[in-house]
Amino acid sequence: MRLGIDLGGTKIEIVALAGDGREVLRRRVPTPQGDYRATLEAIAELVTFAETRIGERASVGIGTPGSLSRLDGFMRNANSTCLNGKPLRRDLETLLEREVRLANDANCLAISEATDGAGAGAETVFGIILGTGVGGGVVVGGRLLIGANGIAGEWGHSPLPLPVADDLPLPACYCGRHGCIETYLSGPALAADHARRHGGTLNAQQIADAARAGDRSCEASLQRFEARLARALGTVINLIDPDVIVLGGGLSKLERLYSNVPARWAEHIFSDHILTRLRPARHGDSSGVRGAAWLWPAGANKR
Ligand SMILES: [Zn+2]
Repeated sequence: MRLGIDLGGTKIEIVALAGDGREVLRRRVPTPQGDYRATLEAIAELVTFAETRIGERASVGIGTPGSLSRLDGFMRNANSTCLNGKPLRRDLETLLEREVRLANDANCLAISEATDGAGAGAETVFGIILGTGVGGGVVVGGRLLIGANGIAGEWGHSPLPLPVADDLPLPACYCGRHGCIETYLSGPALAADHARRHGGTLNAQQIADAARAGDRSCEASLQRFEARLARALGTVINLIDPDVIVLGGGLSKLERLYSNVPARWAEHIFSDHILTRLRPARHGDSSGVRGAAWLWPAGANKR
């Protein structure tokens, strides 16, 4: 059995997966707000609860916002800021008396979908979260790419390629840069872009609904979004040439992306044929917590 934990800003969720990926248990509790010690204890209680239920000791993987610094093992870049600067993995290993694997939520999505989801059987999978932020993770041959700096796949804070007049002025990003991919392709970014161009206060979901009902300005906003996503993914394809790109997060539910974006990305890709497939996450919102469990990969059951 594997335990996967998704540590989010509002809830902590645990699943237990059998060796074949079958979910045998799931439970969620609210995240103690702004309290690191209480967060550790809530995680430990969930592990104890799960192991009592399944009747065995299991491997533990955890998905978090942000990531561990490879220099000092401290958390950084987490929007649940009480985690930042804390040795989360070391503290959990002490508390749970075992080795713990930890990855950010986009990496968990990528490993989940590469293991038994929309990228199963593919050699290279790029998993993306298009939600309140934009993150990514790369899995090659079933193995998550970490990188020298622990940021492999973090495309959200690279500049949007090939800016056109519609993209200017470059929006300011919370990371201190301007024109980051996240400032165009997150849900709030879609809403902000629509408001700048057409006014109003529609959110991403309302823009999608209105476009479906025939609203022209919302349709134009979605077309700008799709053109930007095609440009941003064209660069990814030129760089790592994935077999499958899997979308997770709220905007991944926009079905039109899976036909409209590949129809527009060819002009940005340096190849006469494009076999890369763009697919929605098979496990939907559960990909994060399942991927955390799969940080202990298939075939490593006995460890
Ligand atoms: Zn940024």
